[in-house]
Amino acid sequence: MSIQLPNGHAVHACFDIKDDCLLIGGRSILDIANQVGRTPFYAYDRQAMSRRVQQLRASLPRDIHLHYAVKANPMPAVVQHMLGLVDGLDVASAREMQVALDAGANADSISLAGPGKSDAELARAAAAGITINIESEREIRLLATIGSQAAKRPRVAIRVNPDFELKSSGMKMGGGPKQFGIDAERVPQVLNDLAGLPLDFRGFHIFSGSQNLRSEAIVEAQQKSVELAIRLAAHAPVPVRSLNIGGGFGIPYFPNEQPLDVAPIATSLQIQLAKIRQHMPHAQTVLEFGRYLVGEAGIYVCKVIDRKISRGQIFLVVDGGLHHHLSASGNFGQVIRKNYPVVIGNHVMGEARETATVVGPLCTPLDLLADRMDLAVADVGDLVVVLQSGAYGLTASPTRFLSHPEPDELLI
Ligand SMILES: *Cc1c(COP(=O)(O)O)cnc(C)c1O
Repeated sequence: MSIQLPNGHAVHACFDIKDDCLLIGGRSILDIANQVGRTPFYAYDRQAMSRRVQQLRASLPRDIHLHYAVKANPMPAVVQHMLGLVDGLDVASAREMQVALDAGANADSISLAGPGKSDAELARAAAAGITINIESEREIRLLATIGSQAAKRPRVAIRVNPDFELKSSGMKMGGGPKQFGIDAERVPQVLNDLAGLPLDFRGFHIFSGSQNLRSEAIVEAQQKSVELAIRLAAHAPVPVRSLNIGGGFGIPYFPNEQPLDVAPIATSLQIQLAKIRQHMPHAQTVLEFGRYLVGEAGIYVCKVIDRKISRGQIFLVVDGGLHHHLSASGNFGQVIRKNYPVVIGNHVMGEARETATVVGPLCTPLDLLADRMDLAVADVGDLVVVLQSGAYGLTASPTRFLSHPEPDELLI
């Protein structure tokens, strides 16, 4: 299902409209708001997540394993649902590891990445038996010490800071000087050193960036990642078992952005898999995704508590804002602020329309959810809905700023 919004946002998402109300999980937004009993809240649609994974699996080569990056949305019910759909979970802290284990994930399908893993986190991850993506030589030393004292060798993969960048990526996380991973040119020496250490070497993790809508750029990054892995594998102490070549698939947030075309990526992956099979016959190829799997399946809902006009400009003041949804306010990695897709949830297409600015209750001009946007005419009590909010919403927000209550989250 897909609705074309009157304000230029293509929402290639999961939501239908009935009686001009947004439906989520087939239920009216008014119904859901009554069930929650208060605003603001986040609602996530489990069917939308399932459909996204099914579509992705149907297009990608069957041998590829899909992992869910928990940091995109760590709500335990979401993690539990995703666990039933994907082949593994990627976590970025000991707390996320615990959520993954509580959801019932097998230790051997969980991997931990992130710069600055504390001694305690490394010890906990080693004890749990999950795969630790090593990002520094300090981590190797610590894990080797743990390995020499424990019955079980810590499972490790090397996160490689590649010698290329993911072009036109929303967030670059590899190439050039970076805090992530070990520089590709140092990896042969590190692999050499690993040979004598009490560590269970699994393979490589090469993650070059995130939120990319250009399939050519992703194809190029994947080709280069595979070439790099093949070069490095020649130095590995044991055969490579796992090759995680990152993710980076983006979703459209802003006017005129188009959904990612996965077909060319799938075609290219067939060729890459053939190369991997030839040079690393024991390696399982993994792709990891956060926002692509859950981002479109979630909405943030708040209520209009005031409507005012300042020097001719209409302001809808709502009870939610940047403290719950930093990304939509434009303060989470956006260089030039653009509006997320926003609708009046109980008058989506609304015949009477106006240009309005939606602001939150915080005493800062940064608390902006929609800047002079075409919206249905709304008044006090109407629901403002931010679409594309299933990833990096609540989890990426400064909830304590101004001490308002936290929003509820529900999985429908
Ligand atoms: C953040 C992160 C992801 C997920 O990125 P998305 O843009 O949400 O898909 C995957 N892998 C690693 C290593 C990450 O740090």
